[in-house]
Amino acid sequence: MCGIVGYLGKNDCVENIKEGLLSVEYRGYDSAGISYIHDGAIQIQKRVGSVANLFDSITCPTDTHCGIGHTRWATHGEVCEKNAHPHISFDNRFSLVHNGIIENYAVIKDGILKDIPFRTNVDTESIVNLVAYFRIVNPKLSVLEALCETLKNLQGSYAVAMLALDTPDTIYFARKESPLLIGKGDGETFISSDVLGLGKSCSEYVVVPNGVYGYINKDEVKAFEESGSDVCLEFKSMISHSERAQKGDNAHFMQKEINEIPTVIENTVKIYLNEDNPISKVDKSFWQDIEKIEFIACGTSYHASMVGAMFTEDNAHKVARTHLASEFVYNPPLLNKNTLCVFVSQSGETADTLHAVRVAKERGAKSLGITNVMTSNLASECDVCLPICAGVEVAVASTKAYNAQVTVMMILADFLRDGDYKDIAEKILSQAASIDLDGMWASAKKFVKRVANSSSIYFVGRHMDYITCLESCLKLKEISYIPCEAYAAGELKHGTIALVEDGTTMLAIVTEPKLISKTLNIVEQAKARGAKLIYFTSLNLKDFAVSEKDVMAAPKVDVELSPLFSIIPMQMLSYMVSVYKGYNPDRPRNLAKSVTVE
Ligand code: GLU
Repeated sequence: MCGIVGYLGKNDCVENIKEGLLSVEYRGYDSAGISYIHDGAIQIQKRVGSVANLFDSITCPTDTHCGIGHTRWATHGEVCEKNAHPHISFDNRFSLVHNGIIENYAVIKDGILKDIPFRTNVDTESIVNLVAYFRIVNPKLSVLEALCETLKNLQGSYAVAMLALDTPDTIYFARKESPLLIGKGDGETFISSDVLGLGKSCSEYVVVPNGVYGYINKDEVKAFEESGSDVCLEFKSMISHSERAQKGDNAHFMQKEINEIPTVIENTVKIYLNEDNPISKVDKSFWQDIEKIEFIACGTSYHASMVGAMFTEDNAHKVARTHLASEFVYNPPLLNKNTLCVFVSQSGETADTLHAVRVAKERGAKSLGITNVMTSNLASECDVCLPICAGVEVAVASTKAYNAQVTVMMILADFLRDGDYKDIAEKILSQAASIDLDGMWASAKKFVKRVANSSSIYFVGRHMDYITCLESCLKLKEISYIPCEAYAAGELKHGTIALVEDGTTMLAIVTEPKLISKTLNIVEQAKARGAKLIYFTSLNLKDFAVSEKDVMAAPKVDVELSPLFSIIPMQMLSYMVSVYKGYNPDRPRNLAKSVTVE
């Protein structure tokens, strides 16, 4: 969701903030803004739209050395310039950027701040106005003390960075649940919602611990607990700086990321085949006495988890189930020390998933994170964390990270069986090497117009194909805005077939030979009622009166690996449909890459 950045140091803050905002913009792109102190006043410049649009349309001084910036994914208050961050206090002495939700903002506004004028209807404004209010009511309070007092009044989640007119070379910060990191370089300090937003000159970084607030000035970074006691921030060396991802020759990041899938799968497998692999680093006792496995995730990661649960039951012969993180927290299954809870999140910052981690830990379960970002909260909160090694994923609709998650799921399932996953890893490697991306693009392209011109689409499939239906359907919804649903093929006749009428588009995924006739029986029932079929398969359907022109080619892969590779042409199809309809697939409406609010 929103991305926060801040810079304090010897160089121009505006350039550094711009660079940081461009790197975290995938977190939200409703609006962007920057604040710094100049000419004895807090300055704020903000615009609806992209970071590039902001910096193209403003002029900033080049001699400021301390500032904060923000890209927004609105949760409270419409998308407009007034509601964009940074927000300024009613007395114009503080500016603040926020990622999170202040759940009691209305109570604050109508209660303690009832006589204070508000300029916006964004929850964030209550934070900055509280700081100003506490300083006016009690002028003896330092800015830091006023911030501390403010935090005591907030309910919800926040990562904030704040400037104060009285202390021009200081950035104040606070964090509860939403992510926040601080990075240090030579004479420079950065603050950001994620590691990508820290400047390239950072040599060390720290994840700000939950519930901590503090300040950054030229001499030091100080942090405190709510009780006021000092917190020692342990900075770690930056492992490597991910360059801000570039599209290269691709029209969009999503296209680039789909084209990277075979390489990503290979890289992931190779890392797990190394002698010094992520699983070998886990203490052996962690894997002992596991009786059942609960996979917990949201969205695309949930679908990867479904593959994980299916493979774990089939291979490791252990009870394995999948839960939506947002539901798990209200209705957790019975958990104990012999339960392994596997939490899956690309960013490692998914608020629903992090909430679920805390619930599982309270109940004594073992926690295993699977993420693309090893500096994330998921990585630090779980007992153990495994990387998916997908590289930076910029497009909001996840593609390569899904394939990398499924790869790790397959490896994990075999590992949980007998500790040896070499066979599956090598099988994945050899199939990844034979993937014909160009052929897939060409085959998917033939169906772009049919899909794009459909007013709704039903995806049907059984067993593993049902999971591919769910993920294909989610991809199409996310970036083409076509209403579509995925059904386990057998379910259709139990209700949904009532929606089928003349011309209804149905996409049947059939990659398992043993299920051909069972799935196609159902499809025939829909066809008899007017459904127009697209068959996604690599199997021979000649016995089923299927016309060649309705067949979209699925990759020919070992059936066991179908969920890992079959999804690729469907990702391509969604991408091309989005482009055909004139949308930007990298930045779908209403969505953001990293869902850091519940
Ligand atoms: N609640 C704030 C807003 O609506 C921040 C949103 C977020 O972090 O996503 O602007």
